[in-house]
Amino acid sequence: MGAVEFEGICVSAVAESDDFEFANRPNRGDPSYVPNLTHLAPPYIPMNDVPTSSIKECPFCEASYTEYSQHFDVCPEHEREAERGREHHRKLAEKLGLKIGSPTESTGMASLEEAERQVKAFLQRDIEYDPQLLMESEFWWYIPHCWIGCSGFIVDKETGNVDCLGSGVSAEGRFLENCFWGHDHGLNADLVDFAFAPDTSLDLAKQIVSKFKHLRPNSHGMLPEEPVWYRDSELESAVAEQFPLFKRHAVWPAITDLRKAYEEHGLRFTVEPSREAF
Ligand SMILES: [Zn+2]
Repeated sequence: MGAVEFEGICVSAVAESDDFEFANRPNRGDPSYVPNLTHLAPPYIPMNDVPTSSIKECPFCEASYTEYSQHFDVCPEHEREAERGREHHRKLAEKLGLKIGSPTESTGMASLEEAERQVKAFLQRDIEYDPQLLMESEFWWYIPHCWIGCSGFIVDKETGNVDCLGSGVSAEGRFLENCFWGHDHGLNADLVDFAFAPDTSLDLAKQIVSKFKHLRPNSHGMLPEEPVWYRDSELESAVAEQFPLFKRHAVWPAITDLRKAYEEHGLRFTVEPSREAF
């Protein structure tokens, strides 16, 4: 018997058996079970060739591994998590009347290929994604090429504009839905000229604008290098000076608030791409 550490927690492990790999899998005892290891890279090293001290145990499925990055692809818990994600996407597509999954006819495939090309050009690199999570509306594609901090991309079919969706951890599981809503209401991740309907209350405008980023010069006349939040102390006068038109603002971070105000407080607005400086 050996013992291995997983992040400081000591767990016991069977180490002497030649059958170590099989003995520690959750489906041990199933004689027909053959692990699919063909896609592991670098080349798979049989467990009994690995020094005992470097073997770790997965806290989710209790299988043993030496590199978590390799185990990740075969961990049944990871697969369950992925399936939960697919289910979430299927429900969202159904709710919003979107197509989901890869297109099957040539027009759709050509349109998707063009959208993928736009994302690759945007990122300057190749992309990969689970095609089961792909979504399509009449006007855009959702390309689920994701990583921590990015929940995928919306590509406008007509303009080819690419919006990186950012991270959605704070939006109560509705982040993706809110992004689709935002896109359908003319919002995007670039700088825009945002105009409140003239009858919007200043209090509501102030609340919304506190979630915008801006590129206005500070009190010394210095322009920020990238969009910045308003400071609490400058919000009141910034809104009073600019209302109802906020030129060159990044409004994407305010999507959740904009949607809530739109649906619950009758907020209306128009958005134009921002083409000029002040
Ligand atoms: Zn696992």
